[in-house]
Amino acid sequence: MRLGLAANRLHHHTPDAALFTWLRACAPGIRALGLGLHAVGRTHDAIAATGLLAGYAPLKRYPYGRDGGLMQLVAEVVGMEGEGRQLDGAIYLIDPVDPSSIFPEALALKRQCVIHGKPFLSTVASARDWIEMERLHAGLAPDPGADDLHAYGAQTLALIAHDALKAEMLAFADRHFDVLSRFARRVATGTTGQRLNELAWGRGWPPDRYWVQPFHSGPLGGDAQIADLVLQRRCQRVIFFEDPHVARQHEADIQLLERAVASRQHDAVCTTTPAVAQRWCAAVRLRTPGA
Ligand code: PGA
Repeated sequence: MRLGLAANRLHHHTPDAALFTWLRACAPGIRALGLGLHAVGRTHDAIAATGLLAGYAPLKRYPYGRDGGLMQLVAEVVGMEGEGRQLDGAIYLIDPVDPSSIFPEALALKRQCVIHGKPFLSTVASARDWIEMERLHAGLAPDPGADDLHAYGAQTLALIAHDALKAEMLAFADRHFDVLSRFARRVATGTTGQRLNELAWGRGWPPDRYWVQPFHSGPLGGDAQIADLVLQRRCQRVIFFEDPHVARQHEADIQLLERAVASRQHDAVCTTTPAVAQRWCAAVRLRTPGA
C-alpha cells in the first residue's frame, strides 16, 4: 500500500508538530505494513531531518509543492495507469488557516480520494486510526497506543450523508448497527438523522428514544452545529458520505466542518467514504469481537 503524504508548515516545523507525533506513534506500524509514503518535498525533508524513518526505502520524495508535488499526488490517487503510479489514499495534515490548504490541488486531493473511495486523512488522529485499522486487517496485534481511539463508550459519533448517498448510509448503519451503537452518543444532520432513527426503531430501538440526535438539516446549518461539537471536543469521530459529483448549495458549511475537524488534529477522526467506513467497522470487530 502507498499513501501520498503532505503536511502544512505548522505541522512539521517544530519537534512536537503533528507530523512527528504521528510518526512517533506509528513508525513501528508503518514499518510492519511496509507502507509506502510518497511525501512532497518539504514534508519529506522534515521527516528525513528527524531520522524517524531512517533507512526506510518506501519513503519517497516528491517535488516541492510549488514544483507540483501535491498535484502529482492528485494524479496518482486517480491512478496513472500503465506507469505503475497509483496511490491508495493520502494523508494531508491540514492547518485550516494556512492558505495553501485551500489551493485547488489541496481540494482536488481530497475530492479525488472521495471519488475513488480512498482514505483522505487530514488529522493525526485519522492517520493513527488508519494505521491501526490496517494493522488489524494485516493480522497484527492491537496497538495499546491506539486504545484512546477505540474508547467508544466515551465518544460521540457524527453521521452525515448527502442525498445521493443516504441509501448507502442506511445500508451501512443497518449492517454495522452493533458497532455504531457502541458509541456513547450519535448525532447527525437533520434528514440523515431522521432516516437513521426510522431504521433504528424498525430494528427494535425503544420508540421513545432517538438512536441518533438529529441537528438541523445540512443546508440549514447542521454541518455547522456538528462542527461546533468537534471544536469543543464533544464529538470525536465523523463519518461523512459526501457526494462530490454535485454542486452543493451549502459548500461553505461542508468546508467549515472539514476545517473544524482539521483544527482538532489530535482528537478528531473523519471518514469520508463508504469503502473506508466499512473497512473501519470490520477492524473494530477484529479489535474487540462481540464487545
Ligand atoms: P441532511 O444534511 O442530513 O439534512 O440531508 C446532509 C448535508 O447535506 O450536509
